Amino acid sequence: MHQIDKVYINGEFVTPKGSALFDLYNPATGAVNGQVRLANRDDAQKAIAAAKAAFQAFSQSSKETRLALLQRLYDAVVARADDITAAVVEEYGGPVSMMSQWTTMAAQNFLDMADTLESYDFTQKIRASDVVMTPIGVVGIVIPWNSNVGFITSRLATAIAAGCCTVIKPSEMSALQTQVLCECLHAAGLPNGVFNVVTGTGIEVGAEIARSPDVAKISFTGSTAVGKDILRASADTMKRVTLELGGKSPTIILDDADLDAAVPLILAAGFLNSGQACIAGTRVLVAREKHDELAQKLVAAMNDIVVAEPTDPASRIGPMVSRKQYERVQGYIIKGIEEGADLLAGGPGHPEGLGGYFVRPTLFGNVDNAMTIARDEIFGPVLCLIPYEDEEQAITIANDTDYGLAAYVMSSDPARAGRVAERIDAGRICINGFQHEPQAPFGGFKQSGIGRQYGVHGLESHLEPKVIMGR
Ligand code: NDP
Repeated sequence: MHQIDKVYINGEFVTPKGSALFDLYNPATGAVNGQVRLANRDDAQKAIAAAKAAFQAFSQSSKETRLALLQRLYDAVVARADDITAAVVEEYGGPVSMMSQWTTMAAQNFLDMADTLESYDFTQKIRASDVVMTPIGVVGIVIPWNSNVGFITSRLATAIAAGCCTVIKPSEMSALQTQVLCECLHAAGLPNGVFNVVTGTGIEVGAEIARSPDVAKISFTGSTAVGKDILRASADTMKRVTLELGGKSPTIILDDADLDAAVPLILAAGFLNSGQACIAGTRVLVAREKHDELAQKLVAAMNDIVVAEPTDPASRIGPMVSRKQYERVQGYIIKGIEEGADLLAGGPGHPEGLGGYFVRPTLFGNVDNAMTIARDEIFGPVLCLIPYEDEEQAITIANDTDYGLAAYVMSSDPARAGRVAERIDAGRICINGFQHEPQAPFGGFKQSGIGRQYGVHGLESHLEPKVIMGR
């Protein structure tokens, strides 16, 4: 049984004032495997005060100092990569083959941001004026459970590059991996107060961060509903916000696409992170005359997907993170059946031989884009196959959503796919693949968020331009 009873404030692991205990579960079995003692408002305030005090000196630190810190953070995470992966697999249920790659990517966030920082000019000239890009202040980082380690490292890397200090509020469901990661970050020897981690509930600790006049910016990742709460709460103190929210991303299969090549990409995009991914391509748009052929190929390929214990190296889809998430996905599968979509694969209940929070990877055919399963972010391995009449209608359906985070376009003519991509309202569009560019801006159109993370766009969202004239 894991007992996590410390938070990290001002350079040390301390017992929180909060005394509430939260049970941790192994999602593969549903059994309790630990407890975390939750931080409360007082702990959040202490963490904010430590970050505020540290900001005085850290905001003045040189680029060389920050580059050295980013390198040390990278080294510290790499040194315990296996421990981090083990914690994520046990606590979150992500398949080990994928989670070990994600740990590597999480460490790499520090080096990618160091690359950006190296060539970034904090003083820019506009005619005779100096535009001095100034660290914004204390940054509150509020994140969900579906990629906890990657979110902490990417948000922290950006803040450090900008000269900002941080208060991080992870999900309480990520307490175990947060503890291991904090030990790594502590080993990197950052100045006290530059990063503080207070695991507690959103309504207690998250809301305090959003309320505090001493927090200049919130970097939030999570649901659109909570993103709106954060935006409202931030208005009182005019906080800057970056909001990375939900998605219902289209995968558009143009009528000239090679279906055999498309199938593995559709499944990789749709079932990424066991479907618990904001960028999952969950609405698969296909020409009506190709619908049945693609459906058959997808069902055949889904039979080969290994849904198994996350510790099994062959596993490609693990359990949902929690009972709540399991029930949410079950609810949507039942809703899809009730709404009249064709259930082509999967369905309600557990996969054979598995319990815990495993769900059956599910494919619905002949889905209408107005159905609930095509509109709501399900956050589980559930795909909707939506037929369209022509390219124009495919674009209309792709854009007929409140979200706009990612999109995927497949065609045997990349130039045609590029023309379609330009008409899709989404922050990231991949053609014939599942590409990632860590220096490119990442974020959403419409209700998928505000602002961008990563690279120079992410860095500048942590800086205020100050214009000095006449010097
Ligand atoms: P939530 O929005 O419920 O929670 C996210 C974080 O916000 C948690 O730490 C949560 O704490 C906290 N929180 C909850 N209420 C408040 C509040 N009133 N004030 C401040 N903080 C609060 O998201 P989920 O945990 O359900 O995560 C899944 C969502 O995250 C999906 O919608 C997904 O699309 C989105 N997401 C977006 C990504 C992107 O980059 N666009 C990437 C990954 C996920 P607590 O855990 O205690 O509730």
